Amino acid sequence: MKHSLTLLAALIATPLAAQTGVDTAGAGVLIDQAVQHSEVMANLEYLTDVIGPRLTGSPAMKRANDWTEARFKAYGLASWQEAWEYGVAWERGEIAFRIESPFVRNLTAQSWAWTAGTGGKTRTGPVAMVDVSSPESLAVYQDKIRGSWLMLRAPSNIWNPDGPPMTAEDSAAMEAERAARMAAFRAAPADTSRAAREARRQFAVDRNYLLKNAGALGVLTDASKEYALMNMSGSAYSVSPLPNVVIAHEDYTLFSRLLERGMTPTVSGRVTNTIGTTPVTQWNTVAEIRGTEWPDEVVILGGHLDSWDLGTGTTDNATGSMVVMEAARAIIQSGLKPKRTMRFILFSGEEEGLLGSVAYAARHADAMDKVQAVLVLDNGTGMITGMALQGRDQDEQLWKDLLAPVASLGAGTVRSANKGGTDHLAFIPYGVPGWNFDQESRGYNHTHHSQVDTYDHAVPGDLIQASAVMAVTGYELANLPALLPRGPVTPVTPRTVLPPSPGLAAK
Ligand SMILES: [Zn+2]
Repeated sequence: MKHSLTLLAALIATPLAAQTGVDTAGAGVLIDQAVQHSEVMANLEYLTDVIGPRLTGSPAMKRANDWTEARFKAYGLASWQEAWEYGVAWERGEIAFRIESPFVRNLTAQSWAWTAGTGGKTRTGPVAMVDVSSPESLAVYQDKIRGSWLMLRAPSNIWNPDGPPMTAEDSAAMEAERAARMAAFRAAPADTSRAAREARRQFAVDRNYLLKNAGALGVLTDASKEYALMNMSGSAYSVSPLPNVVIAHEDYTLFSRLLERGMTPTVSGRVTNTIGTTPVTQWNTVAEIRGTEWPDEVVILGGHLDSWDLGTGTTDNATGSMVVMEAARAIIQSGLKPKRTMRFILFSGEEEGLLGSVAYAARHADAMDKVQAVLVLDNGTGMITGMALQGRDQDEQLWKDLLAPVASLGAGTVRSANKGGTDHLAFIPYGVPGWNFDQESRGYNHTHHSQVDTYDHAVPGDLIQASAVMAVTGYELANLPALLPRGPVTPVTPRTVLPPSPGLAAK
């Protein structure tokens, strides 16, 4: 892509900012590298079309680690892999679901990750909407559970994607409507005492074992997206012995309407999944350019290499990973020498709860006071629009200065907001300034975790722009005169996995 803004951005770049010490020298060279010599789409295509989806614990995840390490080395960086331990692997098998009455047709369905299959057998039964939010409600619905495919929640309210944007009032009204619909199935009001809350935590772990023992065929889960788009989640830390199958929102709402009409739809389904039995080793791919003046101080640029497995994990988050790799290429091939070390980390296990980044930060806890900043890209394919300050509003001017050389590329907006759900969060408890870039959405809520998270949804111009922004801002942070003030250090509580109550898992 030729970009006439390249020269302009370099020319209008502010000189050394007096107050924050941001030195924008080098930005023009980095933008030129990222725009004129980009390899981001070629790398993205290989990762997503050839290596494919990268489920944590899968052989493809390891292939992605090996390929990215080799790629970093080919660009001239030092690169290696760092191990951490994960629960068990899970392999998605075949699936076939049909509605059998009041009419017959195939259903769009996919297993929730780390859930069991039907043992290869076809299980046919009625669909029942039941409230199993407590032991008491499970007891009330005992007879309905046996031999049924279960819906545990009222359908999600989906905003028409072709309609006007949703307002806060729309959102509140839709949630109220959903709560009212579910209230019809509530067997017992929730006890809000502390003891009851503790009991519910254990019950949440036990529930699928109890449902299985009560004779349920499986759980049906609303994909909660339009146009039969699927949704995916799950973890080795919440393995389910009972099939849990995501079905299209349109079919979930069909079942809901039929039940409201007093009719009982019948469904047949067969699933074969394989749940591993022993813990597996996973790896983060790490690469770095040593700093010339303060090599023990580090700027980290990161994204997650793992993905869900229905599509090819392109916008979540092959795009972020390949932009991080492209920023590394642009910096090293520009010939610029950062004063601090720049480290590029492609995390694994993000989708199961930021596991790879949490393991990385814990392993390097002693070095966290030397980490200048962590910059993460993980909100899809869209161009970077700017930065959310993540509770560090004192850094507003810093970020305006850091983004000044790329403001003309559309990345100049700085706002006060906290962003959740991705790997920068793993570093913040250590006092490290951690940020996740704001991006254009480009349909991310559709592709995210769905079967259409594929290469054709990646936007080349946006990813080239994002590569330039990450390279420039990361390099500027590596050259700041001093380390940024630390944030508050808060205790990191190790993950505790509640086992099922004694006797349940063995049945
Ligand atoms: Zn992600």
